[in-house]
Amino acid sequence: MMNLNNLIRKNIKAMKPYSSARDEFKDLKADMVFLDANENPFETTLNRYPDPQQTALKELISKQKELPINQVLLGNGSDEVLDLIVRAFCEPNQDSILTLPPTYGMYGVLAQLNSIENIEVPLSKDFNINVDQVLKQVKPSTKLLFICSPNNPSGNIMDVNAVTRLLKAFDGLVVIDEAYIDFTTIESWTQRLNTFPNLMVTQTLSKAYGLAGIRLGTCYASKEIIAVLNKIKPPYNINSLTQQAAIEALQNNEVSDQVSSILREREKLANALASCFFVKKIYPSDANFILIKVDDANKRYDELLRHGIVIRNRTTQLGCENCLRISLGTPAENKQLLTLLNTLK
Ligand SMILES: *Cc1c(COP(=O)(O)O)cnc(C)c1O
Repeated sequence: MMNLNNLIRKNIKAMKPYSSARDEFKDLKADMVFLDANENPFETTLNRYPDPQQTALKELISKQKELPINQVLLGNGSDEVLDLIVRAFCEPNQDSILTLPPTYGMYGVLAQLNSIENIEVPLSKDFNINVDQVLKQVKPSTKLLFICSPNNPSGNIMDVNAVTRLLKAFDGLVVIDEAYIDFTTIESWTQRLNTFPNLMVTQTLSKAYGLAGIRLGTCYASKEIIAVLNKIKPPYNINSLTQQAAIEALQNNEVSDQVSSILREREKLANALASCFFVKKIYPSDANFILIKVDDANKRYDELLRHGIVIRNRTTQLGCENCLRISLGTPAENKQLLTLLNTLK
């Protein structure tokens, strides 16, 4: 069974978190004179530090996700959330994480950055989890298991039964990266947080919400896990502009038309790609991109680039030989892509 106390790094268990001026006196709107944070007192709407606990934004997210506020942590993009998770639980030069390549590159980068081993257990040929292999390769030092679903770069959702088996059998923390969840109709793993105390879910406003520029990622987990991350996060990690923009976007919930368009375009593009002679395989996608296998990825990548279209060449990724990843664009952009593809020889 998972014991959270044994997973937290010793120094983090022992440390006393930084207490910012704004942590100690929260309500800037109160009728008080704030001479506590060495800010410039002249009002510009940005002269004050942001709310370190992002209360207004978290209340909104908490309501929309139907989770208590103490099960929500916000980061400067989900990349910061992932970084906090690794630093909270993995002892440098001692612990390990387990990842399932081909997958999102940041997990491996974070392992290297923190000097921890990254145990890689390849996905199957059709990009599913080999549960038996994962359980065989887990070590006593393995604190975290990263599952990306829908997976980047393959685009598929990981089988619910496979993930459930891992949640039950692995006594470390299972981090499910749901950066692309808004493009699917499946239930988010956030719905199962109460069933699995070792489950953590990350999401982001960077993909479906069209807000990659504001850098806002979210983490959902038990209140005990969230408390650990809260203790080590930089005090003002979500700036005021980001908090305001996120509140507006989430209140207005305007992206569903865009997501629908992207999903329609995904089907259109997949169908059109099927008739390109150099496309050997189109992998099923539950995300806003499509992975294809072509005759010669480097050649096709260069051809598109020469005509001003930038896609992602994934040919060096494990199990992705001659694979290209294409993000869905606007209908006009996708049409431009297809027109070009039809001229290739
Ligand atoms: C894009 C992406 C992220 C990064 O999200 P940010 O919130 O922009 O940092 C995380 N995970 C996966 C799988 C991604 O593809």
